[in-house]
Amino acid sequence: MKPILTIQILLIFILFGCVNNDEFTESIFIDTEELNTDSPTYEFDIWLNNNFLKPYNLSFKYKMEDVGSDMYYNLVPSSIEKSKQLAQLTKFLWFDVYAKMVDEEFLKKYGPRIIHLIGSPAYSPNSGTMKLGTAEGGIKITLFNCNSLDYSNISMLNEYFFKTMHHEFAHILHQTKMYPKEYEQISAGDYSPMGWQYISSNDAARLGFVSSYSASEAQEDFVEMIANYLVKNDSDWNNILDSAGDEGREKITKKLEICSSWMNEKWGIDIQQMRNEINKRQLQINKDFFDPNL
Ligand SMILES: [Zn+2]
Repeated sequence: MKPILTIQILLIFILFGCVNNDEFTESIFIDTEELNTDSPTYEFDIWLNNNFLKPYNLSFKYKMEDVGSDMYYNLVPSSIEKSKQLAQLTKFLWFDVYAKMVDEEFLKKYGPRIIHLIGSPAYSPNSGTMKLGTAEGGIKITLFNCNSLDYSNISMLNEYFFKTMHHEFAHILHQTKMYPKEYEQISAGDYSPMGWQYISSNDAARLGFVSSYSASEAQEDFVEMIANYLVKNDSDWNNILDSAGDEGREKITKKLEICSSWMNEKWGIDIQQMRNEINKRQLQINKDFFDPNL
């Protein structure tokens, strides 16, 4: 957890039966508004169409829609500058990685249909928690706090955005092809659906969890393992193992082995290679990475 955050970060995923059986079709957004050539965002909108809508049937929504967001929270839209950055980063660090390491069809078939950006965090006044993202049925992913995006801070990018994306995507995959039941035995008895937010990262590691949220239930544990392993560099991953102690480390290692075999056998994905690719790309993010013409 970042020290600047004085409240617990709550990662809530709202799942409504997550299996995404939506076969790729020409476009499910055929009725979306025609692009306006006079609009100051015209170039960006074209880019989104060419990079997400056409190839992946994905509507990348950066203009906040009240009907598509939770009215419970006080939310502001994502700025155009941050939206452009996050769109390019999403393509480079997620979609292009799968296209290269698996094939282009993979995210066409299993990826989300909507990514919705929100500028502000979603604080819950009652629980004192902050929501990083939500995912609804594997179809729509909402990302909060986009106006805080700092491309020079990879840890922050991972914590707020990319871990969330890989987390949700791993849900879609395990709901399509189940992981081995033996995974759930490793930490059986240590899951705390109601109390996980009171478990510190260090205590979680000692119990064999890579994050506090992993301790909420086995499915969350499974996807947190994959998401954290994919986005964290060696140094950050080793920090978790170091704080885990012998017992925690043994559990984390065993869980990772199961995740790794499952990814390989069920999906033909070498998790180590994919992680190397993501780590390599993360190091290429700097001010020159972004297209100045968007
Ligand atoms: Zn989840």
